Amino acid sequence: MKRIGVLTSGGDAPGMNAAIRAVVRKAIYEGLEVVGIFHGYQGLIEGNMELLTLGSVGDIIQRGGTKLFSARSLEFRTEEGQQKAIEQLKANGIDGLVVIGGDGSYRGSMTLTKNGFPCVGIPGTIDNDIPGTDYTLGFDTALNTVIECIDKIRDTATSHDRTFIIEVMGRDAGDLALWAGLAGGAETIIIPEVEFDMEEIVEKLKSGTARGKKHSIIIVAEGVMSGSEFASHLMKHANIDTRVSVLGHIQRGGSPTGRDRVLASLFGARAVEVLLAGHGGRAVGIQNHQVVDYDMNEAFEKGEDFDLLMYQLSKELSI
Ligand code: ATP
Repeated sequence: MKRIGVLTSGGDAPGMNAAIRAVVRKAIYEGLEVVGIFHGYQGLIEGNMELLTLGSVGDIIQRGGTKLFSARSLEFRTEEGQQKAIEQLKANGIDGLVVIGGDGSYRGSMTLTKNGFPCVGIPGTIDNDIPGTDYTLGFDTALNTVIECIDKIRDTATSHDRTFIIEVMGRDAGDLALWAGLAGGAETIIIPEVEFDMEEIVEKLKSGTARGKKHSIIIVAEGVMSGSEFASHLMKHANIDTRVSVLGHIQRGGSPTGRDRVLASLFGARAVEVLLAGHGGRAVGIQNHQVVDYDMNEAFEKGEDFDLLMYQLSKELSI
């Protein structure tokens, strides 16, 4: 292994830059060359790449977004696209690839590995939904962004005796909604993993009002329904008037937290070590506070565990 590539793909997440920096610096420290591939798999297909130096990744550890830019590539989903990507990797003398992204990006890397090109995945997504790792890069930063928003909304909710519905990101995974709801003291958390019971929610809102509560916060993960859809259900069902706040892309931006920067540094360095050991088809992650690498295929077959106990706790603490 003499030269490796690195790309970011799918939705951007805070901490991706810190991970790029760690990959580049660790690889150079180990005597490797590193090529940065721009705009994810689409850029790879088009040969949009350049050699990175120690200085190329200076002053980015604290920045959100990704210096290498990200993209979603339809062409890469086809066999021809994947063949073009492998040809580009070979033509540019690249021997191994680090892919930083979410579950779709991981699936893309698995197709390259299956075609004989070694890839290692670094989990970069605010969704925290990658099998085999307790945390993904960007989750902690996004979580703190959402908590800050909930706290602000709570101030105005209390001043006006209002019920607020806050829509947060999470198409298939409810971790961000659940953790933010628990940390922000939400009364109700609606997530894709658990069916909700409208009667129970209405009952809780009414009993809260009866005991003099000045506000209620309902967190809805976007994958279940939009905040405004949920608001009209509540209105139709129980004539409860609410205000809706959609946090949107604000959740993706911002300077990564210390935790995300440290994870990014650990993950980036481990990914280089895995490639140096000659392994492909693996992902790096953290399990019980230990940095690990594991077989990506096996982890995806097993799937992602959902923390039902945490969901139950959020209900117990918000009676
Ligand atoms: P996030 O979860 O933050 O949205 P992601 O990595 O899951 O990030 P996707 O858009 O699902 O984002 O995937 C990124 C890219 O990976 C896709 O645009 C596509 O090029 C590639 N990809 C996704 N799934 C596959 C697949 N099954 N086979 C080949 N390539 C894939």
